[in-house]
Amino acid sequence: MEYGPAPESNKESVAFLDAHKRKFSLFINGTWVKPSSGEYFESINPATKEKLADIAEANEKDVDDAVKAAKKGLKAWAEIGGHGRARYLYAIARQIQKHSRNFAVLESMDNGKPIRESRDIDIPLVARHFYHHAGWAQLMDTEMKDYKEIGVIGQIIPWNFPMLMLAWKIAPALAMGNTVVLKPAEFTSLTALLFADICKQVGLPDGVVNIITGHGSTGASLVNHPDVSKIAFTGSTEVGKIIRRATAGTGKKISLELGGKSPFIVFEDADLDSVVEGIVDAIWFNQGQVCCAGSRLLVQESVAEKLYKKIRARMETLRVGNSLDKSIDIGAIVDKVQLKTIEELVQQGRNEGNICWQPSWTCPAEGYFYPPTLFTNVSPSSSIAQEEIFGPVLVAMSFRSHSEAVKLANNTRYGLASSIWTENINLALDIAPQIKAGTVWINCSNVFDAASGFGGYRESGYGREGGKEGLYEYLKPKIDGQLSDKPLKIDTKTIDKKQAALVPNIDRTPKLYIGGKQARPDGGNSYDIKDSFGNHISEVPKGNRKDIRNAVEAAHAGTSWAGMTGHARAQVLFYIAENLATRAGEFADRISEMTNQSKKDANKEVEASIQRIYYYAAFADKYDGHVHHTTVKNVTLAMPERVGVMAVICPDESPLLGFISTVIPAIAMGNSVIVVPSETAPLSATDFYQILETSDVPASTINIVTGNKEELTNELAKHDDVDGIWYFGTAQGSKDVETLSTDNLKRTWVNYGKYRNWLDAEQGEGAEFLRHATEIKNIWIPYGA
Ligand code: NDP
Repeated sequence: MEYGPAPESNKESVAFLDAHKRKFSLFINGTWVKPSSGEYFESINPATKEKLADIAEANEKDVDDAVKAAKKGLKAWAEIGGHGRARYLYAIARQIQKHSRNFAVLESMDNGKPIRESRDIDIPLVARHFYHHAGWAQLMDTEMKDYKEIGVIGQIIPWNFPMLMLAWKIAPALAMGNTVVLKPAEFTSLTALLFADICKQVGLPDGVVNIITGHGSTGASLVNHPDVSKIAFTGSTEVGKIIRRATAGTGKKISLELGGKSPFIVFEDADLDSVVEGIVDAIWFNQGQVCCAGSRLLVQESVAEKLYKKIRARMETLRVGNSLDKSIDIGAIVDKVQLKTIEELVQQGRNEGNICWQPSWTCPAEGYFYPPTLFTNVSPSSSIAQEEIFGPVLVAMSFRSHSEAVKLANNTRYGLASSIWTENINLALDIAPQIKAGTVWINCSNVFDAASGFGGYRESGYGREGGKEGLYEYLKPKIDGQLSDKPLKIDTKTIDKKQAALVPNIDRTPKLYIGGKQARPDGGNSYDIKDSFGNHISEVPKGNRKDIRNAVEAAHAGTSWAGMTGHARAQVLFYIAENLATRAGEFADRISEMTNQSKKDANKEVEASIQRIYYYAAFADKYDGHVHHTTVKNVTLAMPERVGVMAVICPDESPLLGFISTVIPAIAMGNSVIVVPSETAPLSATDFYQILETSDVPASTINIVTGNKEELTNELAKHDDVDGIWYFGTAQGSKDVETLSTDNLKRTWVNYGKYRNWLDAEQGEGAEFLRHATEIKNIWIPYGA
């Protein structure tokens, strides 16, 4: 028996294309505007190669017009308030539902994805996103009261989920009071243009949403526009890194949702028939053109051959064909360029000696199709095991032990998603925290919902989309407006300059502090520390690249701190505060000695430091995650996890409090840190390691390297084994950190040369510090009937 074709009608979508005479302008300030260059490019249906429409090519002037419109619309949109915005987002959601079939058909025609997927997955999730964020708009004033909108947001999206990516970007941005300029991918602009029609239908104020079509150069103009306050990007890691470099130091916020090579881990007790269907969802959904596709199958050796046999049998039954045929499983590849990339990578996989298997049937000849493909006996270092193929190609490897599974899973530069298959909940929940990825699906794959955050670790990018965690990407702390261009001025009036020179200093020989041991600097050099009048106080070690390397190695070696419970970490932090309190006078003397502040002011700084340690000790077991209420039968745990090994470049001012305010929140969340203390006043930090030695802090949790701030910062920013870096210093230093951290896309938090008053609790402490010390992993666990 054979399946006959079951074509979906494209009548409405054709009518939409015809209504625009198959020639689309740009949507700027609520109206259709012809591109100033007069240039257009073609959009085709990859399943038939038929031309669908001409699309306007926006140039720099058009981008500028769109940004101007968004800027003009911003004030009124922010002022309309959360409830006002909720009404618009709700109206958009309703309108999308009312035209859902048109959206689904147009999406399938433009992208090549099966109508079953666009109809049942993409478009319902689009509507869900607008509903969910209508709710967040309503709740913004109470739930996000310390934050405000960022401004004009530039959004650049890829071709694999054109409408869904639009919703993931536009819904939270609008909900939080921003206006947007969005650039769809050149292959798939049509549903974004249909969405522009929806914006008009609901009467969205002009300038709130602007859609500019074009190529990568259009995206680049948007990235570089000075009036864009944030860039939200989904696409390749390569372009993500270009954007990171281009925006470094500008203060533009960025979120990057990039590539992946996500592991799909099968343990021997898994239900193999469910696994096979899970694999269909993981790698043959959307032709495998999914950033979080389960493209690396890791299977326990004892069941590997059995599973491969079942997968081959299932592959034989998959149907590839026209995206509008309701009974096909796999549609067309988006474009001939992508098809060529897939073909070349598969050939490379064959050349490398991996075993390639494809079904016996052949793909239709008229469009850009590629058959489901399975590689077995793949070596972990093979290019197809490392490179994102972005096609229907599954790459399989086997493992013997649980620890080997984890090692293989993490043997990638990416960290977007993973899925774990076992009937043993203990095993699943033991493995989940060990996988370095933003999403872990247990006995399921490729499930998404607006209530859950989605985003990567490592080179899969940073930031989250969806869930409460995703809202922060479209907000800035209100406190940011109060930060100063200059460090807080210290009052030295009460100290006599001559007398200061006569006071004998507290004689000590500061060293570096690495791996729980005091260490001499590798270069054998020291530098002079003077008080604010220029009197010599002491010499401190001048750390170099090798000292940084040793400190990073030590920070990785010490894993006991990360493994401690929040309660245990809190106890250690309280103990640090206790030991600091016992030596408060001595620390105050040291502050006075370096800064020439009065003893009274120095005492204040020590007292504030003790309070700050208490604050983060209190939070160590209270910075909770969430259980997200997603629409599928899952309980989704949003777990804040430590970033890993972090570099903390302390402010130069407030020698003790600046050190405490930046180091303690980082370690409270379980990170190990390499600290570069104040360059001019490092002695509070070097005295502090004696407190650490008496406070049960595991060796390697805090490593201190003194020396030239910018030199050491640059080494840390470049270091591939550092996962995150905080920098409090100059605008130029901030730019350097953002630029140099691009290679491994480490998480950065810099001050762009804006200074905090560390004595002010509003500026000097808060959940914002803990947010930057963690990243959210969403773990999806089947739940309920
Ligand atoms: P890109 O990263 O090039 O494209 C994503 C978006 O960025 C598109 O809108 C693109 O425009 C735009 N863009 C391209 N260059 C720039 C630039 N310099 N500045 C700003 N915006 C830019 O991905 P591709 O479409 O070229 O796909 C290449 C590979 O990327 C795929 O094979 C796949 O491996 C990966 N990819 C990953 C995705 C993910 O979801 N993580 C999604 C898509 C691709 P335009 O379309 O006009 O080029």
